[in-house]
Amino acid sequence: MLTRSPHPSCIECGKSMSDSGFDFHYGLRQNGPAYWSDEGVICSHVCAAAHFSRRRTDGREMKEPAAEPILPVAPFVRR
Ligand SMILES: [Zn+2]
Repeated sequence: MLTRSPHPSCIECGKSMSDSGFDFHYGLRQNGPAYWSDEGVICSHVCAAAHFSRRRTDGREMKEPAAEPILPVAPFVRR
C-alpha cells in the first residue's frame, strides 16, 4: 500500500521526496515522481532498476502499470 505522508520516501533506499537528488517527472517537483510502482515511489533510475530486478527475482513482477501515486499539483485557476 502506498504511503500517504506529505513526504513519501523511496521504497528502495528510503530517500525522501523532499531530499535533493530525488528524480521528478521532467525535473519538476510539481509533476510528481519520475518513477514508481504499485508499492510506492522510487527516487531514481538506479533504484527503479534494483526494485524491478528484485521483484523479478522474487517472482512478483508487476502485471500492469501502476496508477500514478501522487497527482500533479493543479495550477491555480482564477475565476
Ligand atoms: Zn531510492
